[in-house]
Amino acid sequence: MKKIKYYYNTHTLRYEKLVTPLRVKLLRFFGFMATALVTSAIISYFAFQFIGSPGEKLLRAENERLGNRYQDLRRQLDDLQQQMAELEKRDNNVYRSIFEAEPIPDSARARALEKLNADAAVARLGDNQLVSSIQKDLDTLGNRIKAQEKSFVQLSSLINNKEKLLAATPAIQPVSNKDLDRIASGFGYRIDPIYKTIKMHAGLDFTAPQGTPIYATAEGSVRVAGYSDGGYGNHVIVNHGYGYQTLYGHMVRIKARAGQRVKRGELIGYVGSTGKSTGPHLHYEVHKNGNKLDPVYFFYNDLGPEQFNELLKRAKASNQSFD
Ligand SMILES: [Zn+2]
Repeated sequence: MKKIKYYYNTHTLRYEKLVTPLRVKLLRFFGFMATALVTSAIISYFAFQFIGSPGEKLLRAENERLGNRYQDLRRQLDDLQQQMAELEKRDNNVYRSIFEAEPIPDSARARALEKLNADAAVARLGDNQLVSSIQKDLDTLGNRIKAQEKSFVQLSSLINNKEKLLAATPAIQPVSNKDLDRIASGFGYRIDPIYKTIKMHAGLDFTAPQGTPIYATAEGSVRVAGYSDGGYGNHVIVNHGYGYQTLYGHMVRIKARAGQRVKRGELIGYVGSTGKSTGPHLHYEVHKNGNKLDPVYFFYNDLGPEQFNELLKRAKASNQSFD
């Protein structure tokens, strides 16, 4: 029920009904609305600030999750970069130096990186920063791996070549010579046993009883296995590749056949005295690119330094060759 208010009018000296003017009513109404609006704004502000709408809560959780994920990725990436740096160091300091390859200069690695980074930067314009910083590091890492892979491919071909080269290089004595007493005549100018004049002796003579086994001194294929009248008699020539050939003369019997592949240490024949020879011995020659070399430098697989010196001394002795 609406209350009726009265007031005492001092002019009329009577109680009169109180009528609120429209102006005052409007003022009161707008005053109330303004207060209500301000209050609700303040309440909502604090409510959203500290409590948050359900949508905001989800976004905040998602944001945190992504933040953690980013930190994880960052850590993993840092680990990988560390490992990569170790590999590069090992590659330059160990592998490449063992195989006598030039180390890849850091500047070359860096140049390759710069180019790749520039390409990637263009492709990524507008990406958000977190993603692009990880992306950049991933690109860099990817490129370092590529450079490393190239180096390893190169190294493995070097290893293969070295293995083949080492297998193809004459490196043992062609007859068993434990006491080093089988060297009868060395490489160089020697007295010819038949003509008794000074002649070039282009090989090493090993004296040994007839029938002593003769071994191939390196891997290769048998180029010649036959008899030549007046010269090497029954002889074998093995082609090792890389310009190397070895010759084994005066055999009593040849075991190897022309075209046959032989390994180092494989039996190819037996000591004899066929051809131009003054007694059972093996005449052994080492050829590199057609030049006849002193075989004494090609025994490194089965001689220690002292044995080598002893053998050198015996081979240098100026004497008569067995031819
Ligand atoms: Zn000889």
